[in-house]
Amino acid sequence: MSRGEVTPQQALASAVERAEAQRSLNALISLNPLAQEQAQQVAARVEAGESLPLAGVPVVIKDNLNLRGTATTCGSRMLQAYVSPYTATSVQRLLAAGAVVVGKANMDEFAMGSSTETSAFGPTLNPWDTVRVPGGTSGGSAVSVAAGFVPISLGSDTGGSVRQPAAFTGVYGFKPTYGRVSRYGLVAHASSLDQVGPFARSAADLALVMDVIAGHDPLDATSLDAPTGFRDALRAGLPERPLRVGVVTQALEGNTPGVLAALERMRAALAGLGAQVEEVSLPGTEYAVAAYYLISTPEASSNLARYDGMAYGARAAAGDVNASMAAARAAGFGPEVKRRILMGTYALSSGYYDAYYSKAMRVRQLISQEFASAFERFDVLVTPTSPFPAFRFGERSGDPLAMYAADVDTVAISLAGVPALSVPMGTETVDGVALPVGIQLIAPTLHDARLIMLAAALEARGDVHLERPPLA
Ligand code: GLN
Repeated sequence: MSRGEVTPQQALASAVERAEAQRSLNALISLNPLAQEQAQQVAARVEAGESLPLAGVPVVIKDNLNLRGTATTCGSRMLQAYVSPYTATSVQRLLAAGAVVVGKANMDEFAMGSSTETSAFGPTLNPWDTVRVPGGTSGGSAVSVAAGFVPISLGSDTGGSVRQPAAFTGVYGFKPTYGRVSRYGLVAHASSLDQVGPFARSAADLALVMDVIAGHDPLDATSLDAPTGFRDALRAGLPERPLRVGVVTQALEGNTPGVLAALERMRAALAGLGAQVEEVSLPGTEYAVAAYYLISTPEASSNLARYDGMAYGARAAAGDVNASMAAARAAGFGPEVKRRILMGTYALSSGYYDAYYSKAMRVRQLISQEFASAFERFDVLVTPTSPFPAFRFGERSGDPLAMYAADVDTVAISLAGVPALSVPMGTETVDGVALPVGIQLIAPTLHDARLIMLAAALEARGDVHLERPPLA
């Protein structure tokens, strides 16, 4: 595009065409009505000689990221008519770098779930096997990259929502260090955990998009002021000394044979790079799912208080103020969101706070300390991204605990705030169908670039599986 061989308008048209051809996957909630205009602006900037790192690159963003003048639904009936009055910092930075937003991706309602089945706009289908979920909550963003609509998309990851759908669809999914990417304009789920993260099909693309979206933002009070330089790091490559890698023993249990085989492939690949691979025990991670749901639901119950049908959400005409709010919430929220608000309110309530919320916060502290001490001995930790590949629609959606248990490999990392990358490591054949498996690489706080460098080194050896799903 920089050389003028393809125009941003052509790239956009091709992305829209692919998305339309795979409409049945239900990956997008809306196409961006401003996309043509954005493409024209980029074309003019390129013509004027501006050098743009993402000139004309079509991207998809999760529908909880605001783009001024377009709908942001969060996969909820509550926000069906909401039009963003401003643009999220991460999205603003993509646009400034020349990207064109093709559309807004389907997601679990308010980013609560692990399968994209809780969306008010219907589930997204996994392109590898359409009777299966794409993972969640950023299922639409994952599928947009896996099915080849766009090379890059953004999701959000509170407890695994970028990494797990990446694993289920066979692409990279990266959760940066908490605070690395601005949360300004990302609709809040659990503010102490929420991070924006990219999906991509190469380490080089991950570095490129991270260089664009990461970095300090005065509009987000938890934004970190730390250097970025992901592409520079990639050029410099991994250090000469052998990498010390720890495989987390707690994550070795309860996996399907295909996930264990993928973990073995990762071990062998890392050893092939000269890494010293050992095992490391992080006993606190066994309490991670319980602690995560006792920390994220109180935060969510506070954050979602604004959807009262007055400040935000569709107004319900019914009696007095309380009746009207109750009616708006009853009609606007789906069952999982209601469950979270009830759980979160309960965990914070007088008499239960000490037993639940405050205890969970102590577990969070313990988990953070365990990661910190493991990182005194290891450069990188490894676990599966999920103990199993994509499950079938309905397999877990009737049982909240079974759904929460699916987060067993991702939530401890979120509680510790450290960065993690899900790397596609091949497939497991289930009922005759090949399903992708992801393995998760974890680094210490602010060592995000190490994970992308490692992925690039694995890619160069041919160890990363970037096959496409079998689409018509
Ligand atoms: N599955 C987790 C939850 O439902 C994580 C969701 C997310 O990362 N947004 O809370």
